[in-house]
Amino acid sequence: MSVEQAPVQRADFDQVMVPNYAPAAFIPVRGAGSRVWDQAGRELIDFAGGIAVNVLGHAHPALVGALTEQANTLWHVSNVFTNEPALRLAKKLVDSTFAERVFFCNSGAEANEAAFKLARRVAFDRFGEEKYEIIAALNSFHGRTLFTVNVGGQSKYSDGFGPKITGITHVPFNDLDALKAAISDKTCAVVLEPIQGEGGVLPAELSYLQGARDLCNQHDALLVFDEVQTGMGRTGHLFAYQYYGVTPDILTSAKSLGGGFPIAAMLTTEALAKHLVVGTHGTTYGGNPLACAVGNAVIDVVNTPEVLNGVKARHNQFKTRLEAIGQQYGVFTEVRGMGLLIGCVLSDTWKGKAKDIFNACEKENLMILQAGPDVVRFAPSLVVEEADIEEGLNRFERAVKTLTQV
Ligand SMILES: *Cc1c(COP(=O)(O)O)cnc(C)c1O
Repeated sequence: MSVEQAPVQRADFDQVMVPNYAPAAFIPVRGAGSRVWDQAGRELIDFAGGIAVNVLGHAHPALVGALTEQANTLWHVSNVFTNEPALRLAKKLVDSTFAERVFFCNSGAEANEAAFKLARRVAFDRFGEEKYEIIAALNSFHGRTLFTVNVGGQSKYSDGFGPKITGITHVPFNDLDALKAAISDKTCAVVLEPIQGEGGVLPAELSYLQGARDLCNQHDALLVFDEVQTGMGRTGHLFAYQYYGVTPDILTSAKSLGGGFPIAAMLTTEALAKHLVVGTHGTTYGGNPLACAVGNAVIDVVNTPEVLNGVKARHNQFKTRLEAIGQQYGVFTEVRGMGLLIGCVLSDTWKGKAKDIFNACEKENLMILQAGPDVVRFAPSLVVEEADIEEGLNRFERAVKTLTQV
């Protein structure tokens, strides 16, 4: 039995919501695969993927099935009790990564919060209270809680909220000498995104990650990879660290892990995990059966050669066409990224105008993303159909053409 709901419009947002977002003028109401429909019945192609979240598109039958089945079985029991979906998902994550232990939570920021707390606790237990410094990269993004905005390398997100969390240093990304100069025996963790997502879809160089690994080993510091955006097949590998062949001590996953249902995880080794003894950390919803049932379905589909190899093929389809569009209209200097996390770096004349391109795409019925003002970002479903890529890029080209002809 459904209750008739009062109609709502985009204008209501400004009346009832905190104004920390500026959502587009239309309201999506339904999705299927890589297509989305708005209130007026307009059909859009979705290359935004809910910010690298809808890893299998909208309403994927395996995810709908898992969620529906679990909804009819058991929703929530809290961590006073464990549950079957959580244990199954943890086993799958352990079996397919370096990790031996999993902590579930609900968002990327929470997974990073757990990672940073674990790193500090391990250093405290092993070396005492002087070893608490965290080194992170400039322009990095790790979430919006107070700890994670402070570790993140963008002061616009951390300024103006009172005293900052101390013991955090920022160094330029991909600059091994700067990291070498900053690290010391007081460093408890080095935190890096294998590809800086929000910061502009900027991949780490292999030698940088290898060098960071070595420096961490030399200084008894933990290497933390924030794979909230790069994980769960996004790069064509289950996790990006597996492509680089550089193994972190702690890895965080969220976004694609739930394919649209909120779930996140912190992965680590047994030796480190044991420092989070009973009572040191927790969350009410973490490992919730609904979320984990969906996570199980996501990993079952994503962690297969068909899907992961398909990501690489789709990357090439995007890249070839985007480079051609970039050249023809003089909008990009570079198309970068891996798998289906792709960034187009705007040329000098278009610098700062990613939002204009976003708006022009919306007019052509295409959803895309920015990664800052200078990079246009694509993070579509990993199973987006070839025909949808073709049609979406036709729309993208029309948007760019219209903009450049003004
Ligand atoms: C999105 C993101 C986060 C934050 O995740 P939330 O679920 O929004 O808290 C953290 N790190 C990276 C790399 C991200 O892309």
